[in-house]
Amino acid sequence: MGETMTQPIISIQDLNHVYGSGDLSRQILYDINMEIYPGEFVIMTGPSGSGKSTLLSLVGCLRSVQTGSLRVLGQELKGASDEQRTQMRRQFGYIFQASNLLTFLTVEQNIATSMELQGIRDRATMRERTKEILSHVALLPQLKSYPRQLSGGQKQRAAIAGALVTRPKLVLADEPTAALDSKTGRQTIDLMHRLAKEQGSAVLMVTHDPRILDVADRIVQVEDGHLGLAYSQEISLALPGLKEEQVTEMEIQPDVFTYEPGANVFREGDVAQRFYVVLEGSVEVFHERPNQPRQFLRTLGRGQYFGEIGLQPANGQRTASIQVTPDAPAKLMAVRGEDFRQLMHGSNLTAVAIAQTIQERVRTSVMTEALPSLDTSNITQILPTIETLRYGAGSTIIQVGDEPEYFYIIAAGVVEVLDHNAQGQTKVVAVRTPGEYFGEIGLLQNRPRTATVRAHPKNTVELMALPKATFQEMMADSQVTQSEVARVVYERLKTLTMR
Ligand code: ADP
Ligand code: MG
Repeated sequence: MGETMTQPIISIQDLNHVYGSGDLSRQILYDINMEIYPGEFVIMTGPSGSGKSTLLSLVGCLRSVQTGSLRVLGQELKGASDEQRTQMRRQFGYIFQASNLLTFLTVEQNIATSMELQGIRDRATMRERTKEILSHVALLPQLKSYPRQLSGGQKQRAAIAGALVTRPKLVLADEPTAALDSKTGRQTIDLMHRLAKEQGSAVLMVTHDPRILDVADRIVQVEDGHLGLAYSQEISLALPGLKEEQVTEMEIQPDVFTYEPGANVFREGDVAQRFYVVLEGSVEVFHERPNQPRQFLRTLGRGQYFGEIGLQPANGQRTASIQVTPDAPAKLMAVRGEDFRQLMHGSNLTAVAIAQTIQERVRTSVMTEALPSLDTSNITQILPTIETLRYGAGSTIIQVGDEPEYFYIIAAGVVEVLDHNAQGQTKVVAVRTPGEYFGEIGLLQNRPRTATVRAHPKNTVELMALPKATFQEMMADSQVTQSEVARVVYERLKTLTMR
């Protein structure tokens, strides 16, 4: 997208469809609007009888368009003649529920037929393409087999080969896994997904198999002839442990917002009100503090969520800023805070998964704040070894003379650094606040603790503790971090010796 706007492969405006006429007429589709872009994998789902096959057959030029506009590959189908529709049909790949192989032809001949319809008639090209596509779908040994000699899964793979061998810009599939067991169905879809992505084909696929929805770039839902976004499915995909029916029962009504490339979604410090799921495009997460360079944390793409940290407890502050990636718009689903908390209580698994995400994100955020040069991919590796420790007000964290075991980053609260003078008296020589670290001197210089550190007498302290080995690994992985820490050590030792 961006400056040179891509033309959609399918563009539908105010499409209606009625079966029968007069007293017997029945409207099946109502005011359908939809666009599908090159290379997109779109899944259409919804109850039986809702109009999915009808819509697919209109897009596939198997029926004539009655009212509204339907453009496919740049051609308006409203008003198109039978002959034009036949011409159009040859440009798509089709995959149906029952495989659409011709029973009296071998696999090879079936695939040849697809190519001939597209005007590919050069024997050498045909042989080469057949071999290539059949090896992709693992059917080379079945080259000379007839459909009746194949298993259900093999038949659908042959159908996929036939549909994709001509490298069509658009593939239409109507419940292609309905006749397959779930494992075969999954494999078939994964294969089709990979092939379509490799060739850059757009796919519009009807299915109500919930187990394969995750391959979709986008899910649309047809209900009683109306098209909508499948909110409950998107939410249950994003939040592990929540079933789609549970989400539907909660009657959550999320909003869907489209943001321009580079737009701000929210800023660090804002009051948190909503939870977001990325439906299309991607967003960037970063720290943004006054008088400091902004610090990139991560990119979140389709199916990933954000905004959960500030929502527990209610109306907390945003701990990071979110901005749409500069190269493309993003579509976000926004769930209100109270609805989000209802979702969290819907399943223990969801609550645990979100708690884990929060912990991971908070830790990453604290670490990048303490060590700005640390790469987020390094942090991801380190995270599992980090312990969270809490100390009551005034309690001792490290004691002068101890063997060093941990490197500490302060997540919350203030600590005091104490020095012991020759008379055995102690004195506070420094305080360290959230986002700062301590404990590095002993670890780097391999000597006992040079100072005592304790929680400030007025607050509890929460620390992220990196075991010695993790700390050393981290230093070895990043030269920049190493010199950054070394500089801090130098500053700290200097103030100690000046006393
Ligand atoms: P889905 O694929 O979502 O199950 P369909 O598009 O096949 O739904 O059907 C939608 C409705 O239209 C159903 O009630 C079906 O009975 C009816 N229908 C489908 N095809 C025809 C037809 N050729 N003539 C009349 N009614 C039809
Ligand atoms: Mg159908």
